[in-house]
Formats: sequence, C-alpha cells, structure tokens
Amino acid sequence: MALLVQKFGGTSVTDTDRMRAVADHVARTRRQGHEVVVVVSAMGKTTDDLIRLANDVSRVQPGREMDMLLTAGERVSTALLCLALAELNVGAASFTGSQAGIITDTTHTRAMILEVKGDRLREALAEGRVPVVAGFQGVSSRRDVTTLGRGGSDTTAVALAATLGAEACEIYTDVSGVFSADPRIVPGAHRLPQLSYEEMLEIAASGGRVLALRSVEFARNHHVPLHVRSSFTWEPGTWVKEENRSMEQAIVSAVTHDTSEAKVTVTGVLDRPGIAARLFRALADRTVNVDMIVQNTSLHGTTDISFTVPKDDLAVSLEVTRELAPQIGASDVTGDSDVGRVSLVGAGMKTHPGVTATMFETLSGEGINIEMISTSSIRISCVVRTDAVEPAVQALHEAFKLA
Ligand code: ADP
Ligand code: ASP
Ligand code: MG
Repeated sequence: MALLVQKFGGTSVTDTDRMRAVADHVARTRRQGHEVVVVVSAMGKTTDDLIRLANDVSRVQPGREMDMLLTAGERVSTALLCLALAELNVGAASFTGSQAGIITDTTHTRAMILEVKGDRLREALAEGRVPVVAGFQGVSSRRDVTTLGRGGSDTTAVALAATLGAEACEIYTDVSGVFSADPRIVPGAHRLPQLSYEEMLEIAASGGRVLALRSVEFARNHHVPLHVRSSFTWEPGTWVKEENRSMEQAIVSAVTHDTSEAKVTVTGVLDRPGIAARLFRALADRTVNVDMIVQNTSLHGTTDISFTVPKDDLAVSLEVTRELAPQIGASDVTGDSDVGRVSLVGAGMKTHPGVTATMFETLSGEGINIEMISTSSIRISCVVRTDAVEPAVQALHEAFKLA
C-alpha cells in the first residue's frame, strides 16, 4: 500500500462527465489498496474565463483581488469532485489551499510556497478519507489568499507529495506523457518513457508547458518521483526522477518552443562595471523574471544588451529600462513581442559536439533567422520570429530523428 498524490489538470476535468471519470479512477486506486491525496485544477478554461471577466471590468488589477477571483475556479472543482466521490461511496473532504496549510509569501499572482503544514490532510487520511485539495493556491503570511502562477496546480501537487512523503506524484493530463515535442505541433512526436529532473527542468523552462517549472524544481529538491500520464487512457506515461546512469542517454530528447516571451533591446549602453547590475536589479525589484540575456562585445566603450521577459511583463520592463536609460547611458530602448523561442534539450548533448551546428544548419535550411542564442550544458535555445516557431520545431524534430 502506497500513498499517492494524484493531480488532475483543467484538461482532465473539462465537464462533469470527466469529473465522474476522475472520481472513478480515484475510487479504483483506493480499491487497489492505496491512500490517495487528490489535487485538482479549475475546470477547462475557467481560469482564462475569470481573467477575461477581470479585464472586462478593470485595467487596474490589484493582485490581492485577482487572487481572490482566480482561486474560485479550483474551489468549484474540489467540491464537485468530492460530490462525485460521495456518489461512489468514497469518503472525501475538500480543502482550499489555505485549509491544506499551504503558506506562501505575499507576492500575489505568483506567490512562492514557504511552508506546507498538511496536518488536516493527514487527519483526513487517518480517518480513511480522500483529501481533495484545490490546486494553484495558498494563504500568505498576511493571511490573504494567494495563487502560485499559471500552471501552479502542478506545484501544489508536488509540494504535498514532498510534505506527506508520497511514493509518487501522478500528474494526469490530456497527453500520455512528456513528448519529444508538443504533440499539437508535431503529430509524429513520441512519448519519452523516462527523463531526469535536469532534462525535465530544461524542457519546462523552455516552454514544454506539460509541467510547471516550479513543480519540477520542487520535485528535484525534495526527490519526489513524478509520473506524467493521461487521464483519458490511464496508460503508464513518463517518469521524471533521478538520473539513471546505466541508461544510454539520448543526445537530443526533445524540441520545445515558447511564444510567451518578448524581447527588450537596450542600445548604446556604457560598457562599465555595474551597469548591467543596475539594470537587472531595477527589473528584479519590480519582480520581472528576466530569462535570456545577450550582451554584445563593446565597440567604442558602448554595447547593446537584449533580454527576454514574459509578455505580461513587457510594459513594466520598458518603463523600468526607459527610466534608467539616462543613468546607464542607453541611447535607445525597444520592445518586440513578435518573437518566439525554439530549444533542443538532451542530457547526451554534454558529450556530443556538433549539435549546435546541426541546429543552426537546420534553421538556415528553412530560411529562418536567429536573433538570440543561449545555451546550458544540456540545452540550446534560439529566438526567432513568431511565425518561424512552428516550422522550426518541425524541422528540428525531423533533423534530429526524434519521430
Ligand atoms: P493540464 O490542464 O493537465 O495542466 P496543460 O495544458 O497545462 O494541461 O499541459 C498539457 C499540454 O502540454 C498538452 O496538451 C500539450 O499540448 C502541451 N505540451 C507542450 N509541450 C509538450 C511536450 N513536450 N510533451 C507533452 N505535452 C506538451
Ligand atoms: N487553473 C490554473 C491555471 O489555469 C492552475 C493550473 O491549472 O495549474 O493556470
Ligand atoms: Mg498545466
């Protein structure tokens, strides 16, 4: 008998039929003798709908009020799932993030988890009930409701699995695992049976939205094995866990893409110690999450810096950078949201030269211009025009024979 955390994403609970199918699966898992803690997301596109409502009434959106609004979606799901479980004679109890003891900082709309208490969940388990926890939410040290950022139910699930010492955290979604590319763009993509935390981190960070990045960080830091699988076929999916050294490592495991970021270019910046520090400190102080950064070698004592930020943060990034421009000697600041990023991820890249060259040749063969490049030991990313993203992903998937 094991303790399992089972997380069901919005795509798994789009309507009440799906909610009943999920309840059936939870009941089945219990019949197999396991203890289950369930984490559930808002139904279908509920969170997007709630954001649309907010946009309809206001351009000013205080984070505290947005969080109060957005947490409502997950609350509906927990109650409905408990009702569906009651119908099957499975004792269950719904919990908001706050009731589950998920304590966060006060950064509304993207709060960080500080502590998970979980005693009420342990009590429910001891009473033989299935705790059903609202994903994506917590309560701040100031006792306000917070959310963990889009896709945050994954993080809730992993945090609970770590706290409760679960054997595994099962992430149920609408695809049967983590694929060699987004199956919506590359129909021939194949399911990866196993990934290391490092590879999954790079996949999540570079746009493979099947798992939220912070959930993978949490899983790696607390050694929680993840099992990403389908709530439609229930077949075994992709395991994400500690690297298995005996396994032959693929040179390239996946091609990912991300169109959620924009590019900021600062031209003619003084090439002196402390300039970059001031710019990126000012952005950090406004909680802008800067991703790729490229700086040119300087010519005549000045240089250009380009960086990417989430599209939602473009306006504030431009404001901060333009304000600072006179102090850092910048002659111009421009923003461009018509960009996207394609990346190759693979643990075997470390030891195989030539991957970069093949990537650049493939993009050039498609007539695609590369605007920014960044690498880690197991990832190469290129920023290209938005309309070049899909052809780039398809061409790379083929060039690296991932089908
Ligand atoms: P959920 O509602 O279950 O959280 P998400 O929409 O957040 O679902 O994540 C699942 C989606 O992630 C899939 O439908 C798929 O289109 C997308 N996706 C992107 N990249 C990948 C990948 N490499 N492997 C699998 N799915 C991916
Ligand atoms: N409902 C939230 C979102 O759509 C959280 C999640 O689904 O993980 O982002
Ligand atoms: Mg998700």
